[in-house]
Order: sequence, then structure tokens, then C-alpha cells
Amino acid sequence: MKLNDLKVDMDYFHIDEKLYQKLNPTPLKNPKLVSFNKKACDLIDLDYGECETQEFLDLLNGVKTLENSQSYSMVYAGHQFGYFVPQLGDGRAINLGKVKSWHLQTKGSGLTKYSRQGDGRAVLRSSIREYIMSEAMHALDIPSTRALAIIDSDTFAHREWEKESCSVVMRMSPSWVRIGTFEFFANTENSKENTTKLADYVIEQNYAHLKDEKNKYEKMFYSLVDKTASMLARWQVYGFMHGVMNTDNFSMAGVTIDYGPFAFMDYFDKNCICNHTDGEGRYSYNNQPYVARWNLSVLANALREICDEDKLLEYLKTFLPQHENVYLELINQRLGLLANKSGNRNLDLILELLGALETSKMDYNVFFHRLTSLKSFNDLSSITNFCVFREPLEKWFDSYRKVCEKEESSFEQRHEIMKIVNPKYIIKNYMLQEAIELAHTGDYSLVNDLFEIAQNPFDEHKKYDRYSNPTPMEFANIKLSCSS
Ligand code: AMP
Ligand code: MG
Repeated sequence: MKLNDLKVDMDYFHIDEKLYQKLNPTPLKNPKLVSFNKKACDLIDLDYGECETQEFLDLLNGVKTLENSQSYSMVYAGHQFGYFVPQLGDGRAINLGKVKSWHLQTKGSGLTKYSRQGDGRAVLRSSIREYIMSEAMHALDIPSTRALAIIDSDTFAHREWEKESCSVVMRMSPSWVRIGTFEFFANTENSKENTTKLADYVIEQNYAHLKDEKNKYEKMFYSLVDKTASMLARWQVYGFMHGVMNTDNFSMAGVTIDYGPFAFMDYFDKNCICNHTDGEGRYSYNNQPYVARWNLSVLANALREICDEDKLLEYLKTFLPQHENVYLELINQRLGLLANKSGNRNLDLILELLGALETSKMDYNVFFHRLTSLKSFNDLSSITNFCVFREPLEKWFDSYRKVCEKEESSFEQRHEIMKIVNPKYIIKNYMLQEAIELAHTGDYSLVNDLFEIAQNPFDEHKKYDRYSNPTPMEFANIKLSCSS
């Protein structure tokens, strides 16, 4: 389909006009296409050739408007690091409407009513990170927003220290409503009416099967609890850390949104913190499931006028058991084990592994990839050669071997289970940094190559074989800033 034939739905405007702002984006100077995503084109039925036109560049830059589209920014509130902030909002993101089931949004499109102190811009560094990472997550079956394209420009911004070019990334999500949107609506004058409208909107967009059900708002909450528990399990299984799990960065559609100082953990550290402003580790790796549950309790409170809050909190008690179920199922797969559900699901073995990985200082995801191609217990060097300390992991292999013997599985059988969940490549922050540094010289080739790897992490990428090795220690588990 041509750009001009895309059918755009503007379906947010039945909400009270005080709860969003209709506005136009502020264009960047001299925009340049960095990359576009064919897989995302497929989702909205857009011809690839359209992405190489001036019109497409104009669309990302806010100069061209799609037919029927009226751009707007949404208000929300949120708990940031546990503290309630009564008003936040799309301070640099502008919504263009919905195409098929995807809500298009340009991030970095200039000031809005909700910008507060910010400049409304996204620097190239952070846009590249989001563009690549959201696709990497999707490729690992971790629910995420997607990204259609990214542009660079000759408009500059000053973040921590350097002058950086501004960019725009076109993101797509099944919804941009956040837990924080409900928190804002719950504190408005007509809170019950506004909350009802917002909940009806979310149900229509993301939980359509509940539309005619009794107690549909409660059921919407239950569905989100289920989805979030499963999403968090997937984060944990792959060592993903979001970095800023504020309630305004938590999606009502149960997908990962708002990529900032995230990381796929390099070597295993259960207390790993990837956000350098998170001194106390509120959002550390191990805390993530508990924080997600807490965020959902904030949502339960924001829904109090249209739901029985006690019932919601009662259901929330299923969050951790659900999370654990999915986690154990997946981590067993990553070990090539079948782990019959009625048994102990190898909990002891898994806990022992996490301890061994930590003391061995072994790259977390490289471990699983190497395990996938292990051919014999007599030679563990293809794994232990990558450890700083070998003994803990060697000892763990004694326990692993016993479980494998009990399951009577062969190396080949385990390989078949593992090869579909243990990718050769995981996008690490040091790789993104290399792509960013090159992009700052005007060369976007590594952005595009990493993007290809992110979308196809199980394939061979001979030229980039080095990226399948452990992260060099000097770049491992580095903390990033919020402007990342
Ligand atoms: P974040 O931590 O990125 O989720 O952002 C928190 C809030 O700050 C959101 O309401 C954003 O819209 C806003 N914000 C972040 N960066 C900027 C910026 N450069 N300009 C304006 N608002 C921003
Ligand atoms: Mg945010």
C-alpha cells in the first residue's frame, strides 16, 4: 500500500479534550533516513519502496500528515521511583493515530503541553537504542512496542555533556495508554466518567473479547496481570532490565514500552542495576517482578471507582505464582530440559546455576548459547574457557548431568529444545554503543547491520561473529543514564 492509502483511525478523541492536546510536530533541520523496518511495514501493509521517498521522511519529520490524521499528545501521571507525580505526559512524543491495530507515534517531535523542562527532543543515541532494542525483544518473543523507522538531523541538543544530533523514531504499539494514564484520570474532576471512558477504550483496543462481559473492567485488570506476569518472566529469563519501571512506563497492553537505560545483562549478577540514577537499585534485575506487581497494585487503586479494588488485589496475588510458572518453563527450555510440571521443575538446579554463573562471572546469554552446542560432559572448555572462575560452573555441571540422566535425554534431544530459545546473538549495550559512535560520524551501516542481527538473532552473521562472544569485561554491566 502507498503511504497516501494508509487508513488512519483517530479513536482517542471521545475522551475529554482536557486530557490530550491536539498539536503539530516541530520539524527537525535537514532530516536524513537512518533506517526503516520492513517487518513493521508488513504490520501496517506499507510498501517498502514508500520508505525511501521524501514523503516518508516528511512524515517522520512531522511535515507531512497522513489523510485523516490529527496529531496529539496524551497526558498521564505516574509513580516515578515510588513517588507520585500528578502530571506527566507525552513530553516529546506525538501520536498520529491508528493504522490497522498499530498506534503510530513519533518520539522526539518537539515540545508539547506536557514537556515540563525538557526540549521535546530525542537524541540519535537514544533513538538508535530504542529502534534496535524493540525489535530485538520482539525477535525473542518478548512482548514489545515495534519501530517503523528512524531519522537523524542537523538539529542539535545538549544532554549530559556533548552536543548531539536530534532524531525521531516512529514507534508502533497496540496501545500507548499507561498505568499512569489511569492514575491521571482517577484524579480528574469527573474521575469516574473519565476512567470509564479510558477503560472502555483500552478494552476496545486490547481486550475486545471482554467488551460484552459482566465485570469487564475487573477482567481487563486480570488479563493485564496475566500478560505482565508472563512478560516479566520473559525479561528475567533473557536477563533484560528495563531500568525505569515507573508506572508511566508500564503499558496497559502488557508490552514493553519506553526504552531508556535498559540492558541485556552481560555477566550474571542478580542485583545488577542498569540505570545509574537508580542508586538504591529499586529497578535492579531481581526486583523487577516485585516492582511490576507493585505497579499493578497502583493500577488497582486507580481503578477503584469502576472496580472492586479488593477483588483486584486478591487477583494480584496470582502474579508471582504465574510469573514463576512461565519463568520455570522457559528457563528449563533454555537448559534443554523437559521438567515435568508436577515435579519440582528443577528449581534447585536453576538456583544453583544462577549462583554458579554469578561466581564464575560468566556471560549470561553466551552461557545458554554455548550450552546449546555442547556435545559431551567430558569437555566443558567451550563454556568454562569463558568464565573468570571455572570451578562453580564445573560443579554445577555435575548436578545438571544427573538431571539429564534422570530425564534420559541425549545431547541431540536437548539441542533441539534449546536451539529455538537460545539465540547466538543478544544485543548488548556495548554493541549499541559501537553503532551509535559510527552513526555520529554519519555512517549508519552498523545501525542497520545490528538491526538485522536483532531481528534474526538465531541466524549466523559471519561478519559479526565476535558479537556472539562474551561482552568484553570493561564494557560489562555498565550503568547508563536516563537520557540513553
Ligand atoms: P521517561 O523517563 O523517558 O519515561 O520520561 C518521563 C517524562 O519526562 C515523560 O512525561 C516524558 O514525556 C518526559 N520527557 C522525557 N524526556 C523529555 C524531553 N527531552 N523533553 C520533554 N519531555 C521529556
Ligand atoms: Mg516514559
